[in-house]
Amino acid sequence: MTDLLSRLGLSDINSGAWAGGALDTTGGELVASENPTTGETIASVALASLEHYEQVVTAAQDAYLRWRMLPAPKRGEIVREMGDAMREHKDDLGRLVTLEVGKILSEGLGEVQESIDMADLCVGMSRQLFGLSMHSERDRHRMYEQWHPLGPIGVITAFNFPNAVWAWNALVALVAGDTVIWKPSLKAPLTAIATHRLLNTVLEKHGYGGAIGLIIGSDAEIGETMINDQRLPLISATGSTRMGRHVNKTVAGRLGRCLLELGGNNAIIVEESADLDLALRGILFGAVGTAGQRCTSTRRLFLHKNIAADLTASLASAYKQVRIGDPLAEGTLMGPLIDAQAVQMYLDAIEQIKAQGGEILAGGEVVDGPGHFVTPALVRATPDMAICRHETFAPILYVFEYEDLSEAIAMQNDVPQGLSSSIFTDSFRSSERFLSHEGSDCGIANVNIGTSGAEIGGAFGGEKETGGGREAGSDSWKAYMRRQTCTLNWSPDLPLAQGVVFDL
Ligand code: NAD
Repeated sequence: MTDLLSRLGLSDINSGAWAGGALDTTGGELVASENPTTGETIASVALASLEHYEQVVTAAQDAYLRWRMLPAPKRGEIVREMGDAMREHKDDLGRLVTLEVGKILSEGLGEVQESIDMADLCVGMSRQLFGLSMHSERDRHRMYEQWHPLGPIGVITAFNFPNAVWAWNALVALVAGDTVIWKPSLKAPLTAIATHRLLNTVLEKHGYGGAIGLIIGSDAEIGETMINDQRLPLISATGSTRMGRHVNKTVAGRLGRCLLELGGNNAIIVEESADLDLALRGILFGAVGTAGQRCTSTRRLFLHKNIAADLTASLASAYKQVRIGDPLAEGTLMGPLIDAQAVQMYLDAIEQIKAQGGEILAGGEVVDGPGHFVTPALVRATPDMAICRHETFAPILYVFEYEDLSEAIAMQNDVPQGLSSSIFTDSFRSSERFLSHEGSDCGIANVNIGTSGAEIGGAFGGEKETGGGREAGSDSWKAYMRRQTCTLNWSPDLPLAQGVVFDL
């Protein structure tokens, strides 16, 4: 572990403020990053103060004035080098993700691969920040739209994707011409420092140190200052609905922009015609993978009544075979929850499930020993159980039965969140219905694959209490830019729109 940390430039105590390079935060409150597998401290961070925050914002403002003048394809070339730097250090960064948040190694590496893929996507995107042109109603006039950068933007990230959520935002923002100030979760500060440090080296080489900044501090002091800061025209926030509601209100209060990626309550519908082996594998990865700590984790399962008994029995048996343990060890399928508080939330949910009449078919327990391990819980549930409407960020899957597809879709949609959904079916009609206006109300709707593990090419995000934001691919870049509509007159006259006459 010591070798890994030193290769990534981490020491026992690390700076919590980076205006490009590290600022001296000695004397700041020390926060330990805990390995959730063992409960041991990996390394600590000396938290940033408001003074450091000012330095980081000032550096991002200064860098913005120069960065925005670099042609977008040139910005793309620098982002390509950032992708190459992550490629070179993928193994170390992936291991650090696993060490710090407990996801299994193939997922830790997969997360870094997602960031590399984002860099590749952004290189192309840097040549495709297209505006539309339109026909003017006036003679010898031309109209078009163009997109400009916004300025320094704030990015707040959740613990569960400590590297990729930043990349979804920052790499797009950088090609758009913005500079970026990152406030990561205090539960995963080391991945943030290692990622920042590595990619800042690339920017510094090109004379743009400070175009990315990192600020690690308390929510009450640094977080609140950041979301109230008029100098940051956009706050992109990923995390719980509770946090997003507060951030949204605050940023709206200063008429700033918010991009929100919040909690989900994702569901899979399995029809009678489905390939049940495929469905079983999709459900297992969705519900148990990442110990249920993905925003897109499968939390509810709707089974057609004719296959419900058999599929539930197969799932219960599969649940008991899931290899739980050290996420760095080969063969492990499920690592720990992030911390003791997460384990307590899981246990509270299990109590509520029992009190509300749910039947635990598998799991529901804490695993003895060091670390924050639990067993994945499979629960026979009824639609009236209030807890099923909430996102518990842990591996708990609620199983329901249905008779016809309309009923299943109605139940699926009847929750406050709207992130990810999927159907397993061999029926073309059912698949189309699920994807139609009367189908899933989620931002993501899949057929014959599970709810989690999205590719970066599409726009990622969800509706309702998930916040409505879209990140990563497609035209998500528009959220990081401002649109300008331009009308040019090359006639000798000054005709007014809509035929208005205003002559002396
Ligand atoms: P969280 O809401 O506890 O924290 C998220 C981030 O918000 C952290 O960096 C935290 O420090 C910050 N924060 C909290 N209060 C703040 C304030 N007042 N001002 C500024 N920042 C503040 O979430 P978490 O436990 O880290 O992550 C799990 C949650 O994130 C789940 O609900 C999950 O569904 C969600 N999530 C959503 C997506 C998505 O794309 N929709 C992706 C990953 C995680």
